[in-house]
Amino acid sequence: MKPSHIEHIGIAVNNLASAIEFYEKVLGLKCYNIEEVRDQKVKTAFFKVGDTKIELLESTDPDSAIGKFIAGRGEGLHHIAFAVNDIEKQLKHAEDNGVRLIDAKPKKGAEGLEIAFLHPKSTSGVLIEICENKTNKF
Ligand code: ZN
Repeated sequence: MKPSHIEHIGIAVNNLASAIEFYEKVLGLKCYNIEEVRDQKVKTAFFKVGDTKIELLESTDPDSAIGKFIAGRGEGLHHIAFAVNDIEKQLKHAEDNGVRLIDAKPKKGAEGLEIAFLHPKSTSGVLIEICENKTNKF
């Protein structure tokens, strides 16, 4: 896949406002975007750290993936997202290598990214997202 960088690290939080406060006050990062992703039933907040972002995820519905994750394990590291080119081709490549896909096709994520998840059973227990910024290449 040759990802160019870690696009973001996703962290599941109980409360976006108090998590934002920690990242701003203690780490001194600036929250530059808060966005609700209705498809995923989450509210997200973003911080830049070099080329990588921190994506805080608060569930807006107990039945969402993040809601279930927090109910089962509590807050914490949720996923790592790698920036790739030609996400459809990379999904095919993963599948051809026996990787179990959560998303057979890319879907819309926050910040206009095309995103898809690989199943943790195929990735040593880490939920891996691959994503592509098709509107604003960097
Ligand atoms: Zn993500």
